Amino acid sequence: MTQLIGPIVVRKYGGSSLADIDRLRAVARDLKAARAEGQRLVVVVSAMGDTTDRLTAQARLANPHPPRRELDMLLTVGERISMSLLCMALDAEGVPAVSLTGSQAGIITDGSHTDARILAVRPIRVPEALDRGQVVVVAGFRGVCGETKEITTLGRGGSDTSAVALAHALRRAVRDPRTCPASTADPKLVPDARRLERLDYDAMQRLADSGCGVVHAKAVAYAREHQVVLYGLELRVGPGHHDRRRARARPAAGAGVRAAGPDRGQGPGPPRAGRSRRRADRRPGRPRGAGHGRRPVDRPVLAGGECWSWEAWGPRHHLREVATAALALARTRPEQVTAHWDDERAVITLVGRKPENWPAGLTQLQAVLAGLDAGGLPLRTDGELVRILAPADRLRDLAASLHAALLAG
Ligand code: ASP
Ligand code: MG
Repeated sequence: MTQLIGPIVVRKYGGSSLADIDRLRAVARDLKAARAEGQRLVVVVSAMGDTTDRLTAQARLANPHPPRRELDMLLTVGERISMSLLCMALDAEGVPAVSLTGSQAGIITDGSHTDARILAVRPIRVPEALDRGQVVVVAGFRGVCGETKEITTLGRGGSDTSAVALAHALRRAVRDPRTCPASTADPKLVPDARRLERLDYDAMQRLADSGCGVVHAKAVAYAREHQVVLYGLELRVGPGHHDRRRARARPAAGAGVRAAGPDRGQGPGPPRAGRSRRRADRRPGRPRGAGHGRRPVDRPVLAGGECWSWEAWGPRHHLREVATAALALARTRPEQVTAHWDDERAVITLVGRKPENWPAGLTQLQAVLAGLDAGGLPLRTDGELVRILAPADRLRDLAASLHAALLAG
C-alpha cells in the first residue's frame, strides 16, 4: 500500500463538476494526479447535476408539503449516488478510495430537518482511511442529528458547509477547483466581469445571504467563525485580508412574495394577529413559520390604520413555503387578505463599500437605471448592499450595463 506523506487537502466538487459519468471520471483522474503528488485527499461531493432539484420536484408531486424528515431521506440519496460512483471511478483508475456518508464522517447536527446546523464534527474514520492510503469521499450536504440519530440536510447548497466544517476539524483549508473564482460579477451573465484576487468576508457573506449561489451562507459563517480559508472560491478569511473596495454584482434566482391584510386575524407574517402596532414597529421582520424564509430580504410595511403589509424578496426555494401559506390564506379570506407571488423576477445585488453619502449614491444608481430604461424598478438598501428587483427577462442586460456603469475598470 502506498504510504502518502503529503498534506491533507480537502476538496469540494459541486453538482456541475459531477453532472455526468464523463465528468465524474475526469474528476477521478484529477484526484489520481493530485494523489500521485502525495496529497492525502478528502473529497466532499454534492449531488450530480440537477439531481437535488429533480428529487425535490418529485417530492412535491407526491405531496405539495412533504414532511421534512422524509425530504431529507429523499434528498440525501443524491450525494450518496455521487460518492459511491466517484469511488468506483477512482477504483477504475487504480486509486484506493472509500465513501462515507455525513454521519460516517462524524458530522453531527441539530434536529432541524432540511436546514440543520452543524454542532460538531468528529471525523474519526477520515484520518484512519487516509492512513490506509485511501482517498476519502464524503457526501456533502448531510449529517446526523446527535440526539435522534436522524439523517439531516444542511439546506440547499450545503455541501460547501460540509467541506468547511470537515476542513476545520482536520485543520485544513478548502479547495474547490471547479468553482469560479470571485469576480466583479457572475461571468455567466456579465462577460466583462473581472477576476478579483480576494473578496472580503463581509461581502461574501452578503452575497451568500442574498442567494447569489457563490457559496453556501452557512459555509461563510462557519469559515469566519473558525478561520477556515477557502481557496478556489477566492475567499480569504482572517485579518489582513479585508478590502472594502471590492464589489460584485450577482443576480439571485429571484422571486417575491407580498402579503397584505388587516391588523387583525391571522396573517402570514408579523405584525401578527392582534399585536399592537407599536410592537410591530419594534420587531419588524420575520414571517412566522418561514424557516425557509430565513435568508430572503423581507420588509414589513405598515400601511397605516388597521392594515399591515409584508413583502420579501429572495431565492425562490427560500420563499416558496411562505408564499404558499400566504396564498392559501388569501384564498380562504379574500375580503381580508391579499397575497401576491411573483417568480418572474430577478434580484440583482450590489455589494461594496458603503457610499459616503447614501442619498447621492442612490441618486446616481437611479440615474443609471433611468438611462437603461429601468427607472421605476424597486430598490432596497441594507447596510452595504443594494438590491434591485428586475423583471427576469432584463436580468442579463441590466447586470451587464450596471456592471459597465459602476464596476468596470
Ligand atoms: N445537492 C445539494 C443541493 O443541490 C447540496 C449542494 O449542492 O451543495 O442543494
Ligand atoms: Mg448542488
